[in-house]
Amino acid sequence: MVNNNKFKAFYSDMITCTQCTRLVSFREKIAKEKRKQYINEEYWGKPVPGYGDINAKILFVGLAPAAHGGNRTGRVFTGDKSADFLMKCMHYTGLSNQINSDYRDDGLKLKNAYMTAMLKCVPPKDKPTAGELKTCFSYFNQEMELLKKLRTIVALGKIAFDGTLKYFKQFDDLKIKEFPFGHGKSYKMPNGIDLIGCYHPSPRNVNTGKLDFEMMTDLFNNIQ
Ligand code: SF4
Repeated sequence: MVNNNKFKAFYSDMITCTQCTRLVSFREKIAKEKRKQYINEEYWGKPVPGYGDINAKILFVGLAPAAHGGNRTGRVFTGDKSADFLMKCMHYTGLSNQINSDYRDDGLKLKNAYMTAMLKCVPPKDKPTAGELKTCFSYFNQEMELLKKLRTIVALGKIAFDGTLKYFKQFDDLKIKEFPFGHGKSYKMPNGIDLIGCYHPSPRNVNTGKLDFEMMTDLFNNIQ
């Protein structure tokens, strides 16, 4: 079994991080100004931890918390439209116990799955700099060390996909250009883990038809 205390220690250290000046200002500004519909809520406004089954075989990696989703609720893929679509697909394919991901204590449990983001703080316009990704990479590294049972990683979007490849490049001379990102594209990593590309469940992809329920649930069914 994975040691839960190590996870707790990791996250209690991470949520105090202030290494990226631009992101610290942005996450706090969003938390102070708030969106009108959440005006009476207290925003999280800090680095956002992952969640789920720490003994999971499947890891989902997104880009970063959303300004009024994870940065508000304190849980990635929680409380926004991306979370609504993602969890509908996860529930349909047996990866979660409920269809909604609204707030931290909403009863959501992931089944054999863990959810995190490559970057732990919300970036302006969802665009982190290369330097910010590099700085935060040490947290992803630590998380990967803690998730001992992984067999499959689903990277939600190209930045998460390339960041995960970078993780594996530390142990083998991978040529990142030889692993093009695409929805459903699957690659065997040096340690036997399958890395799978998946379009990000953002409204931008879902509303334009680039990604739909069938595409997402087919991919989720195939990884189990
Ligand atoms: S993005 Fe990562 S490294 Fe930068 S402040 Fe947030 S937690 Fe720290």
